Amino acid sequence: MEDVIIRLIPLPVHVRAFTMPDAQGDYNVYINVLLSTEQQNISLQHELRHIRRGDFYKRDKTAKEIEEENKN
Ligand SMILES: [Zn+2]
Repeated sequence: MEDVIIRLIPLPVHVRAFTMPDAQGDYNVYINVLLSTEQQNISLQHELRHIRRGDFYKRDKTAKEIEEENKN
């Protein structure tokens, strides 16, 4: 489906956001509601970039390498 579902939820303070692809092929983006609105937007753009780049299906790269390529 490739839908993107965005939810604002309380997360531990050191977690800004994360994305979980699901079995339907949709992306569930969770943004930490405890962040400022500005940081929430920055984190959302970061997660959307991962989705556009197909980062969740790059089995040949480590999470660290992927984050290095997707800095903001
Ligand atoms: Zn990232």
